[in-house]
Amino acid sequence: MRASHTCPKCKHPEVLFVPTVADRDDRDNVRPLSLHVHHLDWKDIEMGTLQAYVCRSCGYTELYTAGAASLPVDKLPGAKLLQAKG
Ligand SMILES: [Zn+2]
Repeated sequence: MRASHTCPKCKHPEVLFVPTVADRDDRDNVRPLSLHVHHLDWKDIEMGTLQAYVCRSCGYTELYTAGAASLPVDKLPGAKLLQAKG
């Protein structure tokens, strides 16, 4: 859907790209939805901002993570890099 701009479910040829997906924190502030937030006393570091592709007909939505290739695996709690078995 990201490359073809066609919905894989209903074949509609119009897709809405949304560069950030809204989320709320525990203080009810709106922030971008991300894979992980590293909280420091003076700021939060958000890693892996999620982006959405939405079919304009049926609403089917795909999520992708911006900058996936440069995410620091060792800073994402519980994350494991899985490689194709060859
Ligand atoms: Zn669709």
